[in-house]
Parts: sequence; C-alpha cells; structure tokens
Amino acid sequence: MSDPAAINTTLNSPQRQYPLERTRNFGICAHIDAGKTTTTERILFYTGLIHKIGDVDDGNTVTDWMEQEKERGITITSAAVTSFWTQKKDAGIHKNFEGIAHRINIIDTPGHVDFTAEVERSMRVLDGAVAVFCGVAGVQPQSETVWRQATKYKVPRIAFVNKMDRTGANFDNALSDMRKKLGAYAFPIFLNIGAEEKFAGVIDVVNQKAIIWGEGDLTNEGLKYEVTEIPAAHQERAQAALAELIDAVSNKDDSIAELVLEEKPITVPVLKAAIRRLTCKIELIPVLCGTAFKKKGIQVLIDAVVDYLPSPLDIPPAQGMVPDTEDTLEVPPNDNSKFCSLAFKLWTDPYAGKLVFFRVYSGQLKKGDSIYNPRTRKRERVSRLMVIQGSERKDVDSVYSGDIAALVGLRNITTGDTLCNEDFDIALEPPTFPEPVISMAIEPKSKADQDKMSQGLQRLAEEDPTFRCFTNEETGQLIIAGMGELHLEIIRDRLKREFSVEADAGAPQIAYRETITKPAEGEGKFIRQSGGRGQYGHAIIDVEPNEKGKGVEIVNKVVGGTIPKEYIPAVHSGIEEAIKSGVYAGFQVIDIKVSIKDGSFHEVDSNELAFKMAGIFALKDAFAQAGPILLEPIMKVEATTPDEYQGDILGDINRRRGMIQGVDAKNGQTVLTAQVPLAEMFGYATAIRSLSKGRASYSMEPLNFEQVPNSVLTTVMDAAKKRPAARS
Ligand code: GDP
Repeated sequence: MSDPAAINTTLNSPQRQYPLERTRNFGICAHIDAGKTTTTERILFYTGLIHKIGDVDDGNTVTDWMEQEKERGITITSAAVTSFWTQKKDAGIHKNFEGIAHRINIIDTPGHVDFTAEVERSMRVLDGAVAVFCGVAGVQPQSETVWRQATKYKVPRIAFVNKMDRTGANFDNALSDMRKKLGAYAFPIFLNIGAEEKFAGVIDVVNQKAIIWGEGDLTNEGLKYEVTEIPAAHQERAQAALAELIDAVSNKDDSIAELVLEEKPITVPVLKAAIRRLTCKIELIPVLCGTAFKKKGIQVLIDAVVDYLPSPLDIPPAQGMVPDTEDTLEVPPNDNSKFCSLAFKLWTDPYAGKLVFFRVYSGQLKKGDSIYNPRTRKRERVSRLMVIQGSERKDVDSVYSGDIAALVGLRNITTGDTLCNEDFDIALEPPTFPEPVISMAIEPKSKADQDKMSQGLQRLAEEDPTFRCFTNEETGQLIIAGMGELHLEIIRDRLKREFSVEADAGAPQIAYRETITKPAEGEGKFIRQSGGRGQYGHAIIDVEPNEKGKGVEIVNKVVGGTIPKEYIPAVHSGIEEAIKSGVYAGFQVIDIKVSIKDGSFHEVDSNELAFKMAGIFALKDAFAQAGPILLEPIMKVEATTPDEYQGDILGDINRRRGMIQGVDAKNGQTVLTAQVPLAEMFGYATAIRSLSKGRASYSMEPLNFEQVPNSVLTTVMDAAKKRPAARS
C-alpha cells in the first residue's frame, strides 16, 4: 500500500505533473435514477471544471454527451472525464497532503443491464468506484447487478447515499439494505444530520466534527460549508458510529486490533490509513451521504475518493499474455517501463472525429510516437492525444502510466485491443463480451437513406462489441442484433441523431441458431441447358458437427480437379451464404465442419455463379440429413427474494422451462439461481414484481445456446416462418 504523501521517484517520470500516487481512476456506478449523472456533474463543478452547474432535468450535463441520453436521463456511454482536486486544510490522511492536487479520472458507467458491454469495459479499467444509492429506495435490483460486476472485476468501493433531501430519505435504512442485500461490510464515515427537507449536513465520524452547508446560491467556489462541533442532539450517535467503525476496522486490521487491545489511542491519521488499506483490499465499504442535487456532501465525497480509493499503485498489476508462448506476464505501473495500454472504448466525437479511449498500464506515450497492436501486428503513428476535461477536449503532448486519455485519428483499433511498444509483445486480457441474443429487422423510412443507414450501423458496430448488423441474404433485409430491447432502441435513436436516418424496425426476435447432430453427405447441382449457353455447377460435400463454440470450418478436399481450382472459392462462398441465412428454420448455422470433396464441371457451361449455387444446394442437402436442431439463448437468472415468496417464484421459473441451479440463503433472503430460455423471459420484470409484491429483484445475463426442446419446437418454428424478415 503506497503512502499517498510520498512520491516514488523511480516509478514516476520527472516530467509528469500528477504522480501516480495522486491519480485516481474511478467510476460512479448506480441504479438508473439514483443520481449518478448529477453526482458526476457536481464533482466536476466542485473540482472547478465547469462553472455553471448543469442539472440533468435541464438536459445540459457534461457527461451525457448524446442527445438521447439527455432525454432519457440515463448515461449509456462511459465517458472518461479528467479533473483535479486539491484537498483543503484538515482533510486528508497525512498532514503534508494538504494543498497538493490530485488528478481524478471519472469513468461514467451505465446502470442498465442492457448495456453490459459498457459496464464490463469500464469496470476493467477503473481502479475504484463510488456506488451511488438512492436515500429513499436504498439498494435497487440493478444496483445489485452493478455491485456484483464490480466484485467480479475486484473494484474497491465507497458508497454514497444520495437524495438525502427527498421525502422518505432514510440513511439507516439504506445502510442496512446494503448490508443485507449486498452483504457489504459497510460502515458510515459520514452520518447524516437531519433528513428530507431538514437535511443540513454530515457528521465526520472519524474527526468527530459536524459539517454544515449553507443554503442559497452557489458561488464560483461552490456551496460554502462550516466545520463545527457536533450538535448536542447528535453527539451520542456520532460517538456510537466511531466506536462501531473502530470495532469494524480492528476486526480486519491487525495494527488497529493491537492498539485496541493495548487500549492505546487511535489517532485520526492512523485510523484513516487503516480504512484506506481495508477499502483498497475490498474488505470494508466506507459509507457517506448527501444530496447531489442540492450540492451538499460532494466536497467530502471527493475527499473520500482521494483518501480511500486506490491509486494505480495500490491495486494488483494488470495481467497480460505473451501471444506466442501464452506465458502470463504482469504489467506493474511504472513510467519508465515499456509502454502498454488497453483500448477500452471507441467513440465518434462530433468535433474531433474517431476517438479511442485507452488506459495506460505502464510506460509513457508521446505525440509522434508509434504504437503497436499485437492483434493486427501493425504499427500506427500517434498524431494527436487528448483528454476530456468537462465539456472541453484538451490536446496533451504525453500520457503516463495510470492515465486515461484518447487517441485521435487511428484506424485499425477495436475495443479490447492492447496497444504497446513494438518490442513488448503482450496481450492484456480484454474484457469479455457476450453473443447477441435478440435481433430485429430494420429499414430506413426513406429508401434514399439505405446507404447512409448501412454506414451508420457499421460505425455503431465498431464502437460496441455486443452490437452486430448484417444482411439477411434471403430477404435482403438488414438485421440488427444486440443484448436487449433497450439496447436496440438506443441504436435506432443514435441512427436518427448522429446519422440523420429514421428507421422502422420489426418486432424483437430471439436470436436462435441452427446446428447439426451427425455427419452426412450432400450433393448440389445447378444445371440449365436450354438452348444457347447454359449453366453447369456440381458439388458434393461432407458435413459433421464441430465442437461447441468452435464455429464454422470449411475445407477443400477435392482431388484430381473434379471441380476446377478456379471454381472452389465460388462453392465455398455458396456454402457460407447458406450457413449465414440458415437452412432448417432460417437462423444462422454454428459449430459445423464442411469438406468440399467432389463434383463435376462442363467445358463450356460452367461458371462461378453456377458453382456458387451448387454450394448452396449441397449444404442444404447435407444439412437436412445431418440431424438438424435449433438452438436458443439461455440466460443465467438470479432472483433475490424474501423467503415467503420463494415457492411462488420457483414455480414460475419452472413454468418458464427454467432449470433451478441453486437456492441459497444470503443475508436473510433467498437467492435463486436458474437457467432459463430467453424466449420465456419476456415480461419477467412485471411477473416477479407481482409475485412478490415488489420485494423480489432479479438480474439476468446470457449464458449459452442450448437445443430447443421438441415440446416447443413447433411453436418456435411457426413463429419463425411467419416472420422470416427478422431472423438472424
Ligand atoms: P442517473 O440516472 O443515476 O444518472 O441519475 P440522475 O443524476 O440523472 O438523476 C435522476 C433524477 O434524480 C433527476 O431528476 C435528478 O434531478 C434527481 N436527483 C439526483 N440527485 C438528487 C438528489 O440528491 N436529491 C433529489 N431530490 N433529487 C436528485
């Protein structure tokens, strides 16, 4: 654990302005509407980046770049914004900390499960997080999902109970919710003074002081506050909270336990340093409260980010792999090592063009340097580097380990690429993205917009690894596929706003897949010989099931020129086309091996088109005899419910063809895990709410593809036949 006041000069380049120790990369994660955007906004205000406080309701906030986000008030794109914070006197763990600026990079994370890719990729690059909860609603279902994701990516957290000014706000309830529902070892470091319209300030538990905010307009420095003695009415509660905090810390930290045992005094810096150690190890969650909207509690929240969330030096180093040997390699932060970074976000900025957001793990990068991409084995020259500060895009000359910045104008980079020095062959573990599970047909309202729409969709697909678009070869329709209905709706909105294309879409469809269960042979002939020049193509192929997840393999085993060499690619492309548009029910075929083995040709009539058709027919013929089956996306569902509704929820999951994987007691509730076909999950949010009087919550994520059972096959096939346009 680094001492935040001491600068390690062997790790830090002398040129950099903000040493690693004073860098914080953190995200703000929350349930939609808990106040993430407002909190981000207030942080940017108090750190001096924006001089007019933006309110979400006015639609002029800084991190919500996209129009439709402003309308919806949900933050879809993880914006990385850089800011700076200088702690005031009396704050900070160490005395010599005062007056020293920290660089804080805020990575905004979305709260909706449809945007898994966004959450996953931002979790991968942030070192810590502020989890924002609503002081009225407490822990909501999606805060649980995001919390679990943060746990999966081992992200240390502090919790901010927001909206303390709202009617019904209750800090103690929110805290006990966190303990019960999230199993969090959570303890207040700032307690509320009053609630609802009487929320006046907070009690600094560690320092045993009160912080009271003034009312009225904001000055350029922000809402003024006073540090005072704790009002008599709150003294008992404040002392109890300190005793509880010391007890909680001493349970996990030997040095504090020793002081307690020996009945020695525990000074403020010693206690704060212990809280920091435990927070960075994810063994303790410090809890604060305030109201972002009324601008109270934000300064102490930023202090807490600096005091308790890790710098890049306080977390385990990133792991990478040497592509050729598959050896694992650690990349500890150090400006003087070789350059290594991860591209975590592509973004098309209306002013600056294509930006690649990247997180530097080691080394430094200067304008004019070259970067190497081990995936493409290509080098590119860096002509422009940029950081986003508030609403401004600021050019910088160099970036250092631990920094988050954007590259401008680079071409062949996708999300998850490692960017490094050419002599540093390493691939950082990219975030993992699930296969799309839902699709719909889409067409422009005006035919003239066809090309513009295709280009737009292609660009959006480059930015978002869980979004795909392709043409259904049979119907010629464009299909878009993604992680949920909201996800695809947003894509359509973006088409309209960023590319000026209005589009109509079909009903959402489950993205089924097809495969085979046994080997078979197939023959395809395309022969037309009615006067003049005819057509002649003839191919014989073998098909067999491929290992699950291995995809499609097509090999040429033709010997003796029964199909002339120049026609093999045509047969190949015919087979590919049939695989894409499906055979059995019109869904894409996966996990199949195809060998082109024989055929015949005609000296005059043979041509590429005829052989392509022969390929299509041969695949269809073989597929029909190879025991074709339909596969459907299966979701992993986790429902948390008070015990009394367990029976009803289990029964409902069974009716939805679900398979129960586990029933566990956790923090006084029952947690049910199950695998359920996505096709059965439409309307589940409403169902679980009414089964549990609104007290159960659930989350789901795509797991894999499984065979559609015979009992429902006819229904699925009939539905598929009725809507051939929207298959994928
Ligand atoms: P996000 O979806 O988590 O980004 O939440 P927003 O920041 O967009 O806030 C959702 C709504 O709650 C908006 O109408 C905000 O004005 C409101 N809001 C945010 N913070 C507070 C707060 O501290 N108190 C009150 N009363 N309302 C708040």
